[in-house]
Amino acid sequence: MSTGTAGLPAGLPVVDHHCHLSPRGEGPAAAARFRAAGGTHLFLATQNYDGATPTRLEDYQRQFETTVSLARRIREETGVVAYVVLAPYPVDLLRAAESLGIPAALELHRQALDLAGKEVREHRAVALGEVGRPHFPVAEDLARAADQAFGLALAAARDADCPVVVHSADLDREGFLALGREATAAGLPAGRVVKHYARSRIGDAAATGVVPSYLARRDLVKEVLDEPAPWFLETDFLDDPSRPGAVLDLATVPRRAAAIAAGAPGAVERLWGPFVTSVERVYGFRPELGPEGPRR
Ligand SMILES: [Zn+2]
Repeated sequence: MSTGTAGLPAGLPVVDHHCHLSPRGEGPAAAARFRAAGGTHLFLATQNYDGATPTRLEDYQRQFETTVSLARRIREETGVVAYVVLAPYPVDLLRAAESLGIPAALELHRQALDLAGKEVREHRAVALGEVGRPHFPVAEDLARAADQAFGLALAAARDADCPVVVHSADLDREGFLALGREATAAGLPAGRVVKHYARSRIGDAAATGVVPSYLARRDLVKEVLDEPAPWFLETDFLDDPSRPGAVLDLATVPRRAAAIAAGAPGAVERLWGPFVTSVERVYGFRPELGPEGPRR
């Protein structure tokens, strides 16, 4: 077999399924490091780039445009393909409620989800994310609003016919099953629900229907490598210069892939699972062809 960058099989896409980049941080330069380490494709999730919580739809419009144009720059400047993932961040709802009140904050959230759904339908984004619930306890009325917001997100994904990337507290196997039931009840197949930032192995996660996106820590990657697809690897890189080392570096996924390729013979073949099969199953396209390529 011919080999490409970093001893990886030629033609094997190397995919980080969840990261954030910022025009105020390293931006495309981080993607260039990812590329130099052997990375080829990123799923680029939006974020509040100026640190302020959006309180008007225009704020989200500007935020989403920033993510889309950053993805374009990454492709042009580094050759790395960045697939865009857009949604109002679940915690935004709580912060916006402080100034707007809960009903208006919820309405803003709904409009921002509609906007993100439109970006998916017009092929500028491939999924809604991050959606979900705060990862910390909140007052009862806010928890209720967060539940409603998540329901709106599931409905928006169903209507846009796309996956959701879920932000929540850590989930065990029961939590995965409950999440799958919740999505199914909202009309979104569990197989289009990705739990991002999974920090421990969910044994035979595929049987729960919901898809884990595992943090690419060395021992966790080793532990999940033989799991059946679909599952992903991610860094959740934050590109925040004020918090260096807060999360895994963007070069981590290709480095892990290269270490696997240099290790036990044949193990590298397992990587077609997270990098190709899983993208095909969850997103409906091959990572190297993109959403405009031939459908499955
Ligand atoms: Zn994230």
